[in-house]
Amino acid sequence: MRRAAPTCLLAALALLGPGCAAPSVGTRTGAAPAPAAVASWSAIGASVEGRPIETATIGAGPRRVLIIGAIHGDEPEGLPAIDPLIDHLLASPSLCRAATVRIVRDANPDGTAAGSRGNARRIDLNRNWPASNFAPARTRGSQPLSEPETAALHTLIASFAPDLVVVFHSTPGGPFVNYDGPADREAEAFAAAAAQADPRWRVVPNIGYPTPGSMGSYIGIDLGVPILTVEFARRHDPEAASAAVVEGIEVVLTMHDGR
Ligand SMILES: [Zn+2]
Repeated sequence: MRRAAPTCLLAALALLGPGCAAPSVGTRTGAAPAPAAVASWSAIGASVEGRPIETATIGAGPRRVLIIGAIHGDEPEGLPAIDPLIDHLLASPSLCRAATVRIVRDANPDGTAAGSRGNARRIDLNRNWPASNFAPARTRGSQPLSEPETAALHTLIASFAPDLVVVFHSTPGGPFVNYDGPADREAEAFAAAAAQADPRWRVVPNIGYPTPGSMGSYIGIDLGVPILTVEFARRHDPEAASAAVVEGIEVVLTMHDGR
């Protein structure tokens, strides 16, 4: 009897990448003996200060989902959920058959290291996208994709062609799920699944302030690709955040696009 789990591993091992030069953020060097099921990380680029922007791929199914663990360096609440999510996916042959999940652990490793919203040049990486509403500003860059972090992510998105993008943030008003583009069903499904363990989770369709040049504006509104902005509470309990991510991501991975 064949087991399905190796499918997950093959997809993950296919992206075995170089060791990581950065001294921070829990990188996997690949030097240790590999356990039976573990994701392999590779770099899609480097930050302004040279830290790798790590990515891993889990599963080999038709639904293509990109998950970004952090993009604002002072909003690290989603980062502890990444490894539990990967463990959950690797242990689930049905999820591996349903979806190909591309995970970017941290799109802003310099900001995370410094505890700052922007990157090392103080550019907000969630305002530096070639959206129709991009407007140059000191904190948004002089032009879209002026930063190595956004350029690397943009290249990844163009090649991976996700059906759904999920980005983790945090805000004092969290936890909730905001969305752009045709993502209302996914947002409701994620929030409902997360709310089973924590009733605070809800959908907030309108974030309430302009977001020129944001990923949501570009990917959701301009490209028409569903994108969820998952806003944890500030200092969200890591175990609760992980549980919400596992439950919420599982349900959106198995949704079919019936629009
Ligand atoms: Zn944010």
